Amino acid sequence: MNVEELILKGAQMIKESQKILVFSGAGLSTESGIPDFRSPGGIWDKYDPSEFYFQRIISDEKAREAYWKMSSEYWGVMRDARPNKAHLAIKTIEDAGKLLAIVTQNIDHLHHKAGNSPEKIIEIHGTAFSVSCLNCGKRYDREEIEKRIRDGVKVPYCDVCSGILKPDTISFGQAMPQDKMELAFKYASECDLCIVLGSSLVVYPAASIPSHAVQCGSRLIIINRTSTPLDPDADLVIHESVSKALDRMVEPIG
Ligand SMILES: [Zn+2]
Repeated sequence: MNVEELILKGAQMIKESQKILVFSGAGLSTESGIPDFRSPGGIWDKYDPSEFYFQRIISDEKAREAYWKMSSEYWGVMRDARPNKAHLAIKTIEDAGKLLAIVTQNIDHLHHKAGNSPEKIIEIHGTAFSVSCLNCGKRYDREEIEKRIRDGVKVPYCDVCSGILKPDTISFGQAMPQDKMELAFKYASECDLCIVLGSSLVVYPAASIPSHAVQCGSRLIIINRTSTPLDPDADLVIHESVSKALDRMVEPIG
């Protein structure tokens, strides 16, 4: 089948489904200008990820300074990014009453900005849009902390208890949020269609969510520029720009 026929098949599958689980990764947001951390030329080409392991961040002031420097460098892009056509297509799926949930590996808040209901968005790798005190749990708006850094603070600390502050993203070596993972697997077991968007499905345990959906009887669509380990299990695979393909696929329900 050519791409056109694959898109029509995908549109038909979306039309036939009532409980769609969207699983999104970095490839969904690159078209909104957000760099993929792991791709060539991405953040981990420029910085050594071992410098930013959770254990180092909590034990070493110098590591915290390096972490905030790296993290702040990308904050402006993240803060100002706008949802692209693929994010808006997911909003169309919700408006049609077909969205069970969005499980996202992204920390960029673009599903929120696209207008999807917050209670349907499960950010399994956390969010870059808030910062928490690792000691007392006080939560801060990210921009408020970034203002302090722009004013010259190298390592910000908690106003209440002077504890270590960290953006609410899951760092290397940091445990995945148990409650969110459980919820994601619950939705995977309930959906009748799982759509993977812009994820190469190599980061575990996140990648096991679509595979769980298939095991529980769901159909699977994968839209990603490159092949994934789950391609052989999918009912439909499109190696194409996510926004181009998905935008067309939701036309019949829009
Ligand atoms: Zn605190």
